[in-house]
Formats: sequence, C-alpha cells, structure tokens
Amino acid sequence: AAPVAFMGGMSRSARAGIIVKSSGMLEQLARARTAAFDKTGTLTYGQPRVTEVHAQGMGADEVLLLAAAVEQYSAHPLADAVVERARQDVGEVPSAEDVTEVPAHGMRGVVSGRVVVVGNARHIARETGREALAGPEAATAVHVAIDGRYVGYLALADELRAETRATMASLHRAGVRTTMMLTGDGTGVARHIAARAGIDDVRAELLPQDKVDAIRTAPLRPVMMVGDGVNDAPVLAAADVGIAMGARGSSAASESADVVITVDDLSRAARAVHIGKRTMCVAW
Ligand code: ADP
Ligand code: MG
Repeated sequence: AAPVAFMGGMSRSARAGIIVKSSGMLEQLARARTAAFDKTGTLTYGQPRVTEVHAQGMGADEVLLLAAAVEQYSAHPLADAVVERARQDVGEVPSAEDVTEVPAHGMRGVVSGRVVVVGNARHIARETGREALAGPEAATAVHVAIDGRYVGYLALADELRAETRATMASLHRAGVRTTMMLTGDGTGVARHIAARAGIDDVRAELLPQDKVDAIRTAPLRPVMMVGDGVNDAPVLAAADVGIAMGARGSSAASESADVVITVDDLSRAARAVHIGKRTMCVAW
C-alpha cells in the first residue's frame, strides 16, 4: 500500500487509542493468524479480590497479615489485593526486610524475624522444600509458608472483562484462526476463564520463558500477543506483533511492544486488526 494509506491507518488507529509504532505492524496485524493473550489484567480486569483465607496451624488473620507484609513490596495485582484485604480485615501491615521477588512466582521476606514465602505452588516448593496444598479449583491461590512451614493459601478471584468474549469473536471474523491464553496461573482457574472467554487454546502454569517458547513455536503466523505489562515484556518482544494494553501497563512492556493500547479496553486489540485489514486492503 502507499505510504499515504499507512498514515491513514496509523492516525485512524491513534484516534481509537491504538498507537502503532511502525507501518509494518499494520500489515502484520492485518495478516495475524494467532492471537495470544496474557490472562491477568488482559482477559480479566486484573483487579483480583481475596475471597477466602484458608489457614492451617495458624490463625487466618496472622497468615493474611504476614503475607501482606511481604506483598506490599510487589507491584503484582495479586499482591495489591492481599495488602488491601489485610488492611481492611486486620489493620496496619508491618514492614518486611530482605524482600526478594521471583517474577511470575512470588515473594520472600523477613517479618519480625520470621521468614515469609508467598506465591504459587512451585515457588513454595522451591523456597521451602514443602508441597503446597491443592488450592481452589476456579480461583487463583497465593500460598503462604512461614519459617519453612506451609500455613495455607489465600484464594483470589478476578473477573472476566465484559468485552473479552466479543473480542475473541471479532478476531475470528478478522481471520484469526486460533486464540490462545498464556498464563502462569493454575490449570483449573485458567480453564474456567478460557471457557467463558471463548479461548481456543489454553496454556497454564507457564514460566515467563515458557510463554516466549509458546509464541515462538506457534504454527499459525503471524502471531499477535496482548499483555497488560506486568512480567510481559519478553513475550511481547517475541511475538510478531506485541501489544501492550492499559494505562497501568509497565513502561518496560510499552517499550518492547509494537503497539500500545492506551485505554483499558481489550476490544481495541480486535479493532487494531480490522483497521490493519482496511488499511492494507488485506482480504478478510
Ligand atoms: P499471569 O500469567 O496470569 O499474568 P503471572 O505470570 O504474572 O500471571 O504470575 C503467575 C503466577 O505467579 C500467579 O498466578 C501467582 O500464582 C504467582 N505470583 C506472581 N507474583 C506473585 C506475587 N507477588 N504474589 C503471589 N503470587 C505471585
Ligand atoms: Mg500478567
């Protein structure tokens, strides 16, 4: 297409809150055959709430407060939810020392001399050598260990975005053959969300590198990948079109993205493909 057409497409998308960084990306969008999505904050609102505190061998309030003491140093949406619930139910959250985060796994820190580990089952196993209990089926579990002892989990639920299901349908109408969820979360909650979202292919319990591999080996190309930014920079960079979504997205993700959606609305990802097709005159 002529440069004039590119310019038209880029300004049309900019008006829709879709910043396309280079004209070549409009063509990639127009031809996309696989659309992959991060779950938390992308298919869902990314505002999980603690729905249950399941404590064993220790009071629920204490488990919640110690978990929050470590989580207050994380930018992960799950961490925010834990801190909010602790403040609401228990009170002031104490500070922690020697806090470290393993991205997409969880946290570790020392609170009043006690070693607190919070995160997914794999993180607990690696940091403490103890198995976490099986968590809830349709919710995300943040497991907690204190001084090497497993003390329970917090169940968190995150709502599917209102626009997610229609966005998947719109992508299929635009020629996308496969929609894919890539998540570090558990299989149970991933399947639960995917079924309601109308996602074709679910990949759960992935490490950040597994997400990159899933994108690199996707058979139907080009591949577009949409993420909200938290931990998503490498996988956005691996896609043919990396799309960072939401005002909340990290700047690292926005930098490694080819397209930035500046509004908190997943349907713009499908809109971007439609605009690409119109601009490039690619058949539907
Ligand atoms: P997603 O793929 O859904 O965006 P992430 O890759 O960001 O999820 O994280 C994967 C999983 O790692 C989470 O579902 C959670 O179990 C765990 N996790 C990551 N960060 C934290 C944290 N700060 N506190 C507790 N758990 C965490
Ligand atoms: Mg994420």
